[in-house]
Amino acid sequence: MMINLYSDTQSLPTEGMREAIARAEVGDEQKGQDRSVTRLIEKVAHALGKQTGMFLPSGTMCNAVAAATHCGRGEAVIAESGAHIVRYESGGLATFAGAMLEPIAGTDGKFTGAQVLEAASPGSRYTPRTTLMCVEQSCNLAGGTVWSMDQLEDVVDAAQSVGLRTHMDGARLFNAAVSTGIPASALCAGFDSVWVDFTKGLGAPFGAVLCGTEEFIERAWVWKHRFGGAMRQAGFMAAGCLYALEHQVDRLVQDHRHAQLLNEKLSAIDGIVVRYASVQTNIVYFDFSAEMPRSAPDFLKRCEERGLRLGRVGQGFRAVTYLDISKADVLRAADIVADVMATCVRGSAVAA
Ligand SMILES: *Cc1c(COP(=O)(O)O)cnc(C)c1O
Repeated sequence: MMINLYSDTQSLPTEGMREAIARAEVGDEQKGQDRSVTRLIEKVAHALGKQTGMFLPSGTMCNAVAAATHCGRGEAVIAESGAHIVRYESGGLATFAGAMLEPIAGTDGKFTGAQVLEAASPGSRYTPRTTLMCVEQSCNLAGGTVWSMDQLEDVVDAAQSVGLRTHMDGARLFNAAVSTGIPASALCAGFDSVWVDFTKGLGAPFGAVLCGTEEFIERAWVWKHRFGGAMRQAGFMAAGCLYALEHQVDRLVQDHRHAQLLNEKLSAIDGIVVRYASVQTNIVYFDFSAEMPRSAPDFLKRCEERGLRLGRVGQGFRAVTYLDISKADVLRAADIVADVMATCVRGSAVAA
């Protein structure tokens, strides 16, 4: 069996979730008649402390709908340069919102209120008006690290002081909440819009919920419809998300323990350097040490041959834990990496 640490998107629906999906009460979602979708929206809006929400098939569509609702053509959006909305959404911000990006070079995916004030512009004949600030919680490309309450309040205060709207990409917001013990609603307080993904560590096959005020969600529906994201019997999708919300949130703490364990084991392997001394949520990044020049594709191939799949992000490697990954899998994964590294060293010694 392959130990698949490529991403928490590889999580598979559990038996309980499959049953919940099969039994789902359904109706016409776009007419507001799907009771499973309605229940999911109510629960998520409550958990996030927002007035209401909308159900969408994916997180990417949440970001696209939110951006298109918040800003218009030629307006500028502030986001950290490594954010998912910047790197991995095929330029959706420009395509759908017609907005341009004002990237901020942050530290570990986070920036400061001072940086917001420096980047934001009221606009002029010559300069674009900044209208939206995006924050990612937790920070995917920065090792799943979490914005603290102080950091969040700092950027929200700054954004509000210059009239920006605020959006939180909360793909892994529940990981951040479980990791810090701070309720999700507090972590996204002050944000005009926020969404959570059900297809990452929460283990559902599809679905994300975007939340905000009644007024925001009403305007967002136009974009949901334009994207073809207005659905019919979407309760089959929502049922998996409801199941995840009820049964698979608290257990995220296990994924975090497993990621921390993996980080410790990897850091002890010759030739491997972990990016973060400790792991806050479920994402581990590591690199080859400078004195261990190696071919990354060769390393990944050798790991795969031994039953371990890892992700490659930029120049480094990523390993993500989730509900199908056990402690034994993590220990085995570390053994495989150690074996591959040792084989390589021996191999090159022989070659030399
Ligand atoms: C996965 C992810 C998304 C996109 O969500 P999908 O459901 O895969 O479309 C957006 N932002 C972050 C931070 C993510 O990790």
